[in-house]
Amino acid sequence: MAKADELKRMIAQAGSVVAFTGAGISTESGIPDFRSPGGIWTKYRPIEFGEFLASAEARRESWRRKFATHETMQKATPNAGHRALSRLVELGKMPAIITQNIDCLHQASGVADDKVIELHGNTTYAACLDCQRRHELEWVREVFANDEELPLCVGCGGMIKTATISFGQAMPEAEMARAHEATLGADLFIVLGSSLVVYPAAGFPILAKRNGARLVIVNREPTDQDELADLVINAEIGSTMSRAVGVN
Ligand SMILES: [Zn+2]
Repeated sequence: MAKADELKRMIAQAGSVVAFTGAGISTESGIPDFRSPGGIWTKYRPIEFGEFLASAEARRESWRRKFATHETMQKATPNAGHRALSRLVELGKMPAIITQNIDCLHQASGVADDKVIELHGNTTYAACLDCQRRHELEWVREVFANDEELPLCVGCGGMIKTATISFGQAMPEAEMARAHEATLGADLFIVLGSSLVVYPAAGFPILAKRNGARLVIVNREPTDQDELADLVINAEIGSTMSRAVGVN
C-alpha cells in the first residue's frame, strides 16, 4: 500500500486533479468489461454505426443486446473507487471526471452532471439521432416488446439509439473540447481502469503529461502508457483510492 500513500501525497500537493476512468473502475461494481477476454465484444462483433443506420435487422440486434445486459446495468451501484472520486469533487480538488464509461455510475455516486465528461456517451437512456430528443429505455422496451418493433422519435419520427458513441460514430465535439480543456487545467492526471488503447480518448493522458501534469495510472494490468507515468499502481481501484482519499 506504499504506492497508495504516495498517491495520497501527490493528491495533497496538487491544485487540480483530473480523473480519466475506463471500464476497470466499473468492473468492481459488477459491470463486465466488454473488451476483456470472454467479454461480449469478443463473442459478438460490435455493430458499427453505419450498419445501425443502414439495416433494420442491425437495429433490432442492437436492442436485443441492450436489453440482454440492461438488468446488470440497472442493478449496478457505485463502488469505493467512484466514491473516492466523488469526495475529491466535493472537496473542490477535482474539477472534472473524464470517462470512457457509459454506465452513469459517477453521477450515481453524487457527482453533478456538468463535472462528468462522457466521451462515449451514456447507455442509461436513448436519444433521437436526428433531433437528439431524449427517450427513456423503459418506453423503448415496451415498444420493442411488441414483436421487436423499432422505436421512432415521438417528436420527429427519427431513429432512436442508446445515447452512446458506437464504433464508426463521430466523437461528441463538445465533450472532446471540454475534456481537452480539463486536461490542460490539471496538474495531476489520474487514469483509473483504462487500458488506454482506444483513441482518441487515450490521447488525454499523453496531452496531460506533455502539458506538465504528473500522471498516475491505476489499473490491474500494465498499459501502453506506463512508461510515461510518474506512478503506476497495478491493484484494485477501490482499495487503492479508498486509502489515497481516505473514504470507504
Ligand atoms: Zn427526433
